[in-house]
Amino acid sequence: MTNQSFRDSTQAMFQSTVDKLGLDPGLAEKIRVANSTYTVRFGVKLRGQIHTFTGYRSVHSEHREPVKGGIRYALSVNQDEVEALATLMTFKCALTDVPFGGAKGGLCIDPTQWSVDELEHITRRFAYELIKRDLIHPSQNVPAPDMGTGEREMAWIADQYARMHTTDINAAACVTGKPVGQNGIQGRTEATGRGVQYALREFFRHPEDVSGAGLSGNLEGKTVIVQGLGNVGYHAAKFLSEEDGSKIIAVIERDGTVVDRHGINIEALHRHIRNTGGVAGYPSGLVLSAKGPARFLEEECHILIPAAVEGVINETNAANIKAKLVIEAANGPTTAGANEILKNRGVTIIPDLYANAGGVIVSYFEWVKNLSHMRFGRMQRRLEETRNGMLVDEIGRVLSSNGLSGISAEFRKDFARGASELDLVRSGLDDTMREAYQGMRAIWRADDRFDDLRSAAYALSIQKVAAAYAAKGL
Ligand code: NAD
Repeated sequence: MTNQSFRDSTQAMFQSTVDKLGLDPGLAEKIRVANSTYTVRFGVKLRGQIHTFTGYRSVHSEHREPVKGGIRYALSVNQDEVEALATLMTFKCALTDVPFGGAKGGLCIDPTQWSVDELEHITRRFAYELIKRDLIHPSQNVPAPDMGTGEREMAWIADQYARMHTTDINAAACVTGKPVGQNGIQGRTEATGRGVQYALREFFRHPEDVSGAGLSGNLEGKTVIVQGLGNVGYHAAKFLSEEDGSKIIAVIERDGTVVDRHGINIEALHRHIRNTGGVAGYPSGLVLSAKGPARFLEEECHILIPAAVEGVINETNAANIKAKLVIEAANGPTTAGANEILKNRGVTIIPDLYANAGGVIVSYFEWVKNLSHMRFGRMQRRLEETRNGMLVDEIGRVLSSNGLSGISAEFRKDFARGASELDLVRSGLDDTMREAYQGMRAIWRADDRFDDLRSAAYALSIQKVAAAYAAKGL
C-alpha cells in the first residue's frame, strides 16, 4: 500500500468535497490551485564560508487579503508541503471566519544546527528577500510562527520590515506571533494548544457526538496520547491535564516516548526536554528509546493528539489505531487513505483545519491590535470594574437590609474585575472555536453527503471561499 504525499492528501480531501457539492468545475479549479509559490535561494556568509539556503512563500488564495500563514523551519520543507499548508490555511481561515486568504512559508534548515546569532542572520536575510517582493506586508501577506519558529524569529522579521519601511505606521502588523513586549498579544504563544482544548470541550458538549465516538462523560479522566511536545502539543497537553483532569499517558517525541499510565507531569517533562533537548533520561515513568516511537500512536487511549508532523497516521498504521477520538493538532497528520480507514472503523477525527485554528484566530486579534495601536480592553477595563463593583455593592446592601448574609469579598473581587487583554483573547478564541464547531457539525448532522467532520469542514469553507469569489464577480 502506498502512502500519499501531504499535497496529494489535501487535494484528495478537497476534490471529494467539491464533487459532492457539485461546484462549477472552473471555479473548483480556481479554488484548488495555489495562486503562486515563490522560491528563493540566498547566500549567507557564516563560519567563514557562504551557505546557500532555500526558502518558499506560497500564496494559495487571495479571495481575502492579507493572506496569512506561518513560516516553518525544517529540513523537510519543500514546495509540495508549503503549498499543501497554504491550502489548509485558506480553508482554516474561511471555516473560522478569520478574514484572511491562505499562505505559508518555509525554509529548508535544521534550526538546531545554528547558533542564535546565526539564525538571526539567516532569518533577517530570508525576511529581506520576502519583504522586498511584498511577500511580507501588513496589508498583503502576514506570516506567523510554525514548526521550528517562534516569537523570537517573528520579532526579527518585524524589525527587518520596520528597517525597510521606516515610515509605515502599521509596520508591526506585518507579522504575528511577536513577543508581547514587541507588539505581540497576550495568549498568542499558547493559542493553538488552547484552541485544541476549546475544540475538545466543545466536542464534549454534544452528547450525540461523544457517544458516536464510543465515549461518554467529559474530559475528566480521559486517557490521552500526544505526539510532539513542542509549542502546540505542550500547551494542549498542559491545559488538558491541569485544567480538565485528562491523563496524558504517553508523549511521543523525536528521540523516544515517555509512558506513564498514571499521567505524565507535562510541565516537568517539558522542562526536561528544554534543558536536555529530548526525552532521554527523564526520571519518571517509562522512557523508551526512539526505535519505532510512532508505534505508540497505536496504543490504547481515549484521545490521540498528533501535534508534530504530517502523514504520521497513514495506510500502514491506520488499521491499528485504538484511540476513539483523534484531534489533529498538527497540520495534515492523517493521509486521505488513512482517513477513510479510520472513518470506516468508527474513529472520530476532529480535523486539522478546525482543530489547530487557534493560532491563526489569535494572530487575527494581534493583527487588529497592531492596526488599532492599542491593546484590547484599555478603554473599558476600569469602567467595567467600577460598574460591576457598584452592582455587587448594591445587591449586598439590599441583601443585608433584608437580614440576609452579604456577598463575600472573594466573590466581589472576582465579579468586579474588568477583563484583561488575556481574558478577551481567550473569550474571543473560545467563541470562535465553538461557532466553527457548530457550523461544521450542522452540516455533518444534516447532510448525508458529508459523513464526517472533515468533509463537513471542507464543505463549509469551500462554500465560503466560493461565495467570496462570486461576490467579486468571478
Ligand atoms: P514545534 O517545532 O514547536 O514542535 C514540534 C514538536 O514535535 C517538537 O517537540 C519536535 O521534537 C516534535 N517532533 C517532530 N517530529 C517528530 C516526530 N516524527 N515524532 C515525534 N515528535 C516529533 O512545532 P509546533 O509549532 O508545535 O507545530 C506542530 C504542528 O502544529 C505542525 O504541524 C504545525 O504546522 C502545526 N501548527 C502549529 C501552529 C503554531 O501556532 N505553532 C499553528 C497551527 C498548526
